[in-house]
Amino acid sequence: MLFSKLNCVVRYEEPLKNHTTFKIGGNCIALIEPREVSDIVEAIKICRENNIKFFVIGNGSNLLVPDEGYNGVIIKLKSEFSMIKVEGESLIVKSGAKLSEVYPVAYENSLTGFEFASGIPGTIGGAIYMNAGAYGGEMKDIVESVEVLDLDNFELKELKNEDLDFSYRKSIIQRKNYIITSIKLKLKREIKKK
Ligand SMILES: Cc1cc2nc3c(=O)[nH]c(=O)nc-3n(C[C@H](O)[C@H](O)[C@H](O)COP(=O)(O)OP(=O)(O)OC[C@H]3O[C@@H](n4cnc5c(N)ncnc54)[C@H](O)[C@@H]3O)c2cc1C
Repeated sequence: MLFSKLNCVVRYEEPLKNHTTFKIGGNCIALIEPREVSDIVEAIKICRENNIKFFVIGNGSNLLVPDEGYNGVIIKLKSEFSMIKVEGESLIVKSGAKLSEVYPVAYENSLTGFEFASGIPGTIGGAIYMNAGAYGGEMKDIVESVEVLDLDNFELKELKNEDLDFSYRKSIIQRKNYIITSIKLKLKREIKKK
């Protein structure tokens, strides 16, 4: 099998309707769920060696996939790639964490600023990609920096908030050959719990 040397979940001929919020989409060649950045790099190298196209998804909340499916490989950054760490007033979040998983961690640590995002479906990687927002807040307001994997040379780079060129539902990630791997959020310690 093409991806047998990967040390993570690989589903061959996987229906994409199982991975989109609207439950639509035919099969892909394989769907890979990386656990580490090295899994992503390895998967893309194999795709390139075999002339297979690939596409990164998070929760599939903003995707419409046709019944014909996708004649390529899907790299899904979600539950397997979702660690959340608290550092003072910051949260360090791997890009596959769902927004609904990040909010309870902020709340439990009395950190405010993330509330607007708690009801938006999707992963934090997908939210950075499109500067997701609701109730007057947007990701731009709370992102300190983002770590990306540059697919031109497989180097990890740190982009500061001002480098991300955020605007309404847009970020620089949409124009670059980058995969978001982790995010540093700057929140404030303020929530008073009963
Ligand atoms: C019912 C409903 C309500 C919604 N409400 C809102 C709302 O209030 N506000 C709002 O802003 N949006 C809303 N959305 C849209 C959606 O929730 C957001 O676009 C969300 O950020 C998508 O995240 P995702 O993980 O599902 O991304 P996906 O749909 O999986 O992917 C979307 C795009 O992001 C890219 N991407 C995903 N992860 C990465 C990564 N790690 N690195 C690089 N690129 C990546 C993908 O390649 C793709 O181009 C809503 C959607 C639904 C279905």
